[in-house]
Amino acid sequence: MCGADRVERTLRLRAGARLALLLAVPFLLGASIAAPLFHDRIEGLDSTHLPRWRLWVALLGTLAATMGALFRRRRLVCETCHAGARTPIADRPGTGTTRRVVLRAVGAAGAAAAATVSGVAGVIVPNRGWVRIGRDVFGAKVETESEHPDPAWATSRIRSYRRLGRTNAMVSDISLGSGRIHNVDVPRALLERGVTYIDTSPDYSETGSERLLGEAMRGHRDEIFLATKFCRPTGHLPNDTPVKDIITEVEGSLSRLKTDHVDLIHIHSCDRVDRLMAPNIHEAFDRLKEQGKVRFLGVSTHTPNLEKVANTAIDSGRFDVMMLAYHFGMWPTFGHILEKAKQHDVGVVAMKTLKGAKHANLAEFRREADAYSQSAFRWVLSNPNVSCLVVSFWDPRHVDEYLAASGTALAPHDVARLEEYDRLVAGDYCQPHCGKCLDSCPHDLPINDVLRYRMYAKDYDWAEEGRSRYGALAKDASICIGCPAPCRGACPHGVPIRDAMLDAHRVLRA
Ligand code: SF4
Ligand code: SF4
Repeated sequence: MCGADRVERTLRLRAGARLALLLAVPFLLGASIAAPLFHDRIEGLDSTHLPRWRLWVALLGTLAATMGALFRRRRLVCETCHAGARTPIADRPGTGTTRRVVLRAVGAAGAAAAATVSGVAGVIVPNRGWVRIGRDVFGAKVETESEHPDPAWATSRIRSYRRLGRTNAMVSDISLGSGRIHNVDVPRALLERGVTYIDTSPDYSETGSERLLGEAMRGHRDEIFLATKFCRPTGHLPNDTPVKDIITEVEGSLSRLKTDHVDLIHIHSCDRVDRLMAPNIHEAFDRLKEQGKVRFLGVSTHTPNLEKVANTAIDSGRFDVMMLAYHFGMWPTFGHILEKAKQHDVGVVAMKTLKGAKHANLAEFRREADAYSQSAFRWVLSNPNVSCLVVSFWDPRHVDEYLAASGTALAPHDVARLEEYDRLVAGDYCQPHCGKCLDSCPHDLPINDVLRYRMYAKDYDWAEEGRSRYGALAKDASICIGCPAPCRGACPHGVPIRDAMLDAHRVLRA
């Protein structure tokens, strides 16, 4: 066999190896060096103390891999037939220096793009759990107040107090979260109406949550179970923060809160067991406790590893309280964790209780003065293993609306409302007043009207109204049965139009 085949094969192998290098090196650098930095940042660690050198190492490594992939080795040449010998590009017909430069530039740009994509994938893949959390917890648009407040809520106050695990404190079932607080009248009103648990942190609120609460608590400190976090105004404390610096930060909180102690201090928004059990933080807690500056240890988490962190916290025996994200339809295995917390007498504070997403338009179809928030709270508090919930209060309207749910029992209509909400955001919700798909139907079906009548029947118990309006249409969705569905993909909101229309016809036909 002429050496040409061998040379060709070797050249292909080399090209494949260069491509593999170009993709593998940035990916591995991204995953092993840059991803932990990215993780620290989205976990909320103090950005001024993050090891930025990791980013530079990953970038320089990626650059080196790109150069390596572009580097041209001496080509193999078969001595018999000269296969593999390069004819200088400049000597080939129709080629020249300009073309050579263009080809090299295209190759370099392609290699750089491939390396960048691979490196970014290396950063994202290990952190992919944050995508769901980002969507459901951080990025969700939440309905925070009813558009139809009931005047009766104006006199609402706390009607139920529950024991917070082994701390033995009796805390208001609905309690003050202060992440967005900016008006001192709001916490003052809450204290007057019976709220006894306050949650804050050095990094909450642009106006400085701890300072504002220190002002509001004046004269009431003894009535309050006060919780803050191991944190600086610039972010959460990294694991390796020296013990004396941790103590100094906590003393800063005490100063801002105008108190000599906090009842509870949380390891803040914790996604990793190594941070949960960081020796420096635990030693600092023990020293602060000896000095009477803190009483109980807690952990707050609403992150991808919530279940692992919560289980470890309970098993360690170190934690008296856990503050966990908890709302309708999320964290399917949560019931076991709450049960386990109860068995170990660990108090549970629920947060992120207002699940939300595409919540606009929900109010349009309400038939009574009600509040999504109250249904969400009643569902959370219906679990006897939850000690209390904290919700962010910043608007005076929240005081009336949220406290009206205190001490009230979960009713079937609450569950129906929460399920209705889930259905509405599940991807087959036709937006009122939209109509963007109408031109896609050659039969001029009023798609938006048909789907609205379906909603009357399925989601609002207005079956007769829906059927009557559907029956009055000049054309109905029976046309869709034999239609090849040119409307497919016409809905920017993801409604599968033909399936939804057929479902509407099934539900609405007389
Ligand atoms: S199906 Fe989609 S595009 Fe059509 S009216 Fe409804 S939301 Fe708008
Ligand atoms: S499936 Fe129905 S809505 Fe879609 S184009 Fe056909 S007739 Fe129109």
